[in-house]
Amino acid sequence: MSMPLIDSFGRLHTYLRISVTDRCNLRCRYCMPSEGLQWKKREELLSFEEIERLAAIFVGMGVNKIRLTGGEPMLRRDFPELVARLARLRESGLNKSRLNKSGLNKSGLNTTGLKDLAMTTNATLLAGQAALLKEKGLSHINISLDSFKPERFEQITRLSCFEAVKAGLHEAIAAGFSKLKLNMVVIAGFNDDEILDFAAFASEHKINVRFIEFMPFKDNDWQIDKVVTFKEMKTTLDKHFQLSPAKQEAGDVARDFELAGGGSLSFITSMSESFCSSCNRLRLTSDGSMKSCLFYPAEINLRDAMRQNASDEELRGMIRGCLAGKPEAHPPAEEIAARDNRSMIEIGG
Ligand code: SAM
Ligand code: SF4
Repeated sequence: MSMPLIDSFGRLHTYLRISVTDRCNLRCRYCMPSEGLQWKKREELLSFEEIERLAAIFVGMGVNKIRLTGGEPMLRRDFPELVARLARLRESGLNKSRLNKSGLNKSGLNTTGLKDLAMTTNATLLAGQAALLKEKGLSHINISLDSFKPERFEQITRLSCFEAVKAGLHEAIAAGFSKLKLNMVVIAGFNDDEILDFAAFASEHKINVRFIEFMPFKDNDWQIDKVVTFKEMKTTLDKHFQLSPAKQEAGDVARDFELAGGGSLSFITSMSESFCSSCNRLRLTSDGSMKSCLFYPAEINLRDAMRQNASDEELRGMIRGCLAGKPEAHPPAEEIAARDNRSMIEIGG
């Protein structure tokens, strides 16, 4: 019998975000504390073999989309090799002869295979690598960029590498990823005056720009009045662009709109309108902890279990146990801000 990843509230989970490193070469103000962090030792991180094993287990349990993130995922040594290993889990790589007519393997697990292998990156190391990553099997790429103004970029990231990011972004556009998204965290009084420029960029390059509401994490100087809500952004954009609602897909956590003339805009409304009721996401931190909710501190460590020779069946039991504890919804923003949680960079964005 198939055993899809359904939690206590009936939500089906098909999306896993894997942080492949906690390290980053930028220091974004909203993501990590100014004093930096104590990076994990290499042996604390999941090895490629461990990531591959867990990914295969999750895919066997119905996960069809994996996003590689971090920290900065491209800092992980031999990152293209990891992409190639995980790409083997994509539908084309599945040995269909081992599945029965219902798509179940001999253990009765629901394995329709991995469809999307995605990455979120700050693009500092992307120039010269974008085409290679596509060749290795990466299907989707999200690039984080919060300003087109070099000095402002530097203020946010505390580093000056705007030109490298720009080069990486344009190379990714040229490489022709089926889905290329640009993530912009919008902060009131800081970069919200660039919303129109980002929408124009989406239109010009026929890509998707995602406006993300600023979220609270440990020591990131979050305040409610720094959040620019979806409604506020939409009101500004409606005055200059023609936006029509796009078809939403199951598990979509963004509000999506097509731009007349090409390109699209999305809004991640985690703060103003939570999307918890349709959340299909699970997370794996770089040190092997599974989290069922970004804003919920509880975690279980799958790495330690693997290193103590846990069987796949035992790991599946732990995964189900973690999912069973997933809360129905995350608390309101101010309550999250007051809670103990890891910073975004530690969890993996
Ligand atoms: N280093 C990569 C990057 O920046 O794309 C991947 C990791 S980063 C943590 C993933 C995403 O989380 C980025 O798009 C980043 O902008 C977003 N992010 C980080 N802190 C955030 C916050 N406080 N509120 C909203 N989004 C945040
Ligand atoms: Fe690094 Fe990404 Fe966090 Fe910026 S948002 S500090 S690039 S992990």
